[in-house]
Amino acid sequence: MDNLKVTLPDGSVREVPRGTTPADIAKSISPRLADAVLVARLGEGSNAVEEGRLWDLSRPLEGDTKLSLLKPDDPDALYVQRHSAAHLLAAAVLELFPETKLGIGPPVENGFYYDFVRETPFSQDDLERIEAKMRELAAQNIANERKLLSKADALKMYTDWDQPFKRQLIEEKAADQMVSFYQSGKFIDFCLGPHVPHWGRLKAFKLMSIAGAYWKGQEGNPQMQRIYGTAWPTQKELDDYLNRLEEAKRRDHRKLGPELGLFSIEEQAGPGLIFWHPKGGLVRKLMEDWLRNELLRRGYDLVFTPHIMLLDLWKTSGHTGFYKESMFGPVEVEKAGYQLKPMNCPGHILIYKSRLRSYRELPVRLAELGTVYRYERSGVLHGLLRVRGFTQDDAHIFCRPDQIEGEIEDCVRFAWDTLKKFGFDDYVIELSDWDAAHPENYAGKPEDWHRATAALKNSMQRLNAPYKVIPGEAAFYGPKIDIKLIDAIGRPWQLTTVQFDFNLPPRFGLEYVGEDGARHQPLMVHRALWGSVERFFGVLIEHYAGAFPLWLAPVQVEVLPISEKNLDYAKQVEEKLKAAGFRVHLDDRNEKIQARIRDAQMQKVPYMAVVGAKEAEAGTVSVRERSKGDLGPRPLGQFVADLQSEAKN
Ligand SMILES: [Zn+2]
Ligand SMILES: [Zn+2]
Repeated sequence: MDNLKVTLPDGSVREVPRGTTPADIAKSISPRLADAVLVARLGEGSNAVEEGRLWDLSRPLEGDTKLSLLKPDDPDALYVQRHSAAHLLAAAVLELFPETKLGIGPPVENGFYYDFVRETPFSQDDLERIEAKMRELAAQNIANERKLLSKADALKMYTDWDQPFKRQLIEEKAADQMVSFYQSGKFIDFCLGPHVPHWGRLKAFKLMSIAGAYWKGQEGNPQMQRIYGTAWPTQKELDDYLNRLEEAKRRDHRKLGPELGLFSIEEQAGPGLIFWHPKGGLVRKLMEDWLRNELLRRGYDLVFTPHIMLLDLWKTSGHTGFYKESMFGPVEVEKAGYQLKPMNCPGHILIYKSRLRSYRELPVRLAELGTVYRYERSGVLHGLLRVRGFTQDDAHIFCRPDQIEGEIEDCVRFAWDTLKKFGFDDYVIELSDWDAAHPENYAGKPEDWHRATAALKNSMQRLNAPYKVIPGEAAFYGPKIDIKLIDAIGRPWQLTTVQFDFNLPPRFGLEYVGEDGARHQPLMVHRALWGSVERFFGVLIEHYAGAFPLWLAPVQVEVLPISEKNLDYAKQVEEKLKAAGFRVHLDDRNEKIQARIRDAQMQKVPYMAVVGAKEAEAGTVSVRERSKGDLGPRPLGQFVADLQSEAKN
């Protein structure tokens, strides 16, 4: 007989007749297991989704294989639940609005969507009705069955049904004679699968929003309505996710920025361009002061380079080739093209090159808070995080090979100190290496790559820093280390980069005179700690939910006289705090004290000093802290001393 060998994760091998399904194997192990699993994974390795190795429990195995039976909380099984939820969504839409035309419906991060064409826009009420219908269908435990149709039959079905987008997909995508479909009751979809055995296995889902989309994501194509949903293995995980979303919304820097007087984006000036308002400007000054002092302390030189430079420079650097799509178009002046700078590197290179360098003066570390402009499509712009004009905390290090490991270590230490200073304790480090199978796709010689990657690894080891290597993730010009910080609510943010460059030094003919008197090419490293001032500020706002620590708060103390009669003493308090170097605001508006306390609270001012007749007489202030509330009266001198000690830490 024709038997198959199935190897289970524990290494045991089962011989089963051809035609056996993963469900059969699960049942033969235990009925409990058979009830618990959702889908199977064939083979091994982490890319089962991409490689099409996920398998319906009811689909017969087709050859010898490794087999894992996946429970709902396995990430691959979760992916399948979300895909099945997308089908369930489409089925519910068709039940309620049978005339709807179907686009595509894939799983995505945290959930799924389905694209529809329908003349009437879906309303919020429709969304609720659709979700209720999804629950109704799920409660019927309708099975998801894989079916094969010939391409001709599939085309005929979609023609008769008048589903032009699906028809188009069959025409374009179905190479084989037989096309796979998934049928669930009345609903059928062109789909590679796999799916959960029946819709009753979807335990926790919710429709989230409606957005516009173009068919195939291309402008000019028919407009579709995209319904987004989220799906999780359990109700608890769904609730946790919804809470995280709420929390993220509460911290959204696009909302807090204007509320706290930090920044705005002005329609009249154009998208993706940031206006720093007085309070945001003050925070920026404090951030930059700290950074510039650290740069000088750590042996960097501060430079400034022009915002616009000859187009020819960007041809030499190669940016007009590989970076063209991200640059603003050139400007013509006196018949010469000029380019708004998308990067600071060529400017720093020109400073390095302005005279012959000796091995003795290396490393040269040039730092600039350099403002750059990049073309980002308006659709991807996002508050401070994705913008068209921003200021990088950029630096370029030119050094000898024997210096490189020390330089990398210093960069990583600098990054750590920066994260700590700004209140981040958690981070992950990723090392992006090249794809060794395709050296032709990269600048630099293989030995350059090996040496640079080894230097990165050695530095990480000496720093005792755990890191993950990601092969094939490097830019074409060199390997890099990225540090992603984890914010107060567990979200990762890509900020720090330390990046080798094997491309620019030869393009610009960079040199130094070695100890041997001969000319050598220096190593070049780009590095940014915050990434950009804008992006880092956005992350800070969300991390602190706008409540900056005392040293960064634009207003540190709000002085609040209880009534007009206490104004003189309030002014004395203000003067004393200012003299001690604090940023103070006296709120003498003609409003009730409770209303002014509430306003200071809303502005997330760290401390309020409330003063009335009692305080004036005793020489005290009644202290309120923004999160702890009323701390009671304190002698003014004591309050100043307490603030000083807190600001120092
Ligand atoms: Zn599908
Ligand atoms: Zn650079």
